Amino acid sequence: MKIFIDFDDVLFDTREFVIDYKKIFKSYGINEKIYDKYYYNYPANKNKSFKKYNSKMHVREIGKNFPINARKIEKNITNFIKNTRKYIFKDVYKFVNRFSKKDLYIISFPKIGFQETKIKNSGINKYFEKSISTSGLKSKIIKNLIKKNEIVYFIDDRLESVENVKKKIPSVVTILLGRKEGRHKYSGKGNFDFRAVNLREVFKIINKNLCAE
Ligand SMILES: [Mg+2]
Repeated sequence: MKIFIDFDDVLFDTREFVIDYKKIFKSYGINEKIYDKYYYNYPANKNKSFKKYNSKMHVREIGKNFPINARKIEKNITNFIKNTRKYIFKDVYKFVNRFSKKDLYIISFPKIGFQETKIKNSGINKYFEKSISTSGLKSKIIKNLIKKNEIVYFIDDRLESVENVKKKIPSVVTILLGRKEGRHKYSGKGNFDFRAVNLREVFKIINKNLCAE
């Protein structure tokens, strides 16, 4: 068996994280409009369809247009992402302890340094066999890691992500997790197997499913 779990809004309270991250910028007088304007808008992303976030470039680009102390902000950001443990949802620990580590995989999007630092410094990796980030389709990664006839679960809060996995690998049991704290919620129908609002519910689904096998 393998369980693939998304990171943002599933294991990690990304909404809270973003609020606190923006506070750093605010404390230096950078309002949300400017924050948004330069979020991806720097030379490295020019003419790229897939834009990668880079906090240093974000700050420096703002610095090109406004009088700020870029180094000080960068230092503040570095300190902020040194410890992201407090954003891990409380039900995560109980969930991961109910399975053996070798069955658990984090699969997050996208594959950028900022994301990997955020995950690593949350301390959650030690509960997982592997933590994989990808800027491509998660279904591709999963396909390469699973064996024939293996029981596989996939948990994500993004409808398109869950639907893509279900479409590409129909044998995977897909669970759309819409936490009340999450940023993405879907109420309509879709091509997935189960819906849950927290990891306690996810556990119940998996447990029931395994007993029926
Ligand atoms: Mg997510």
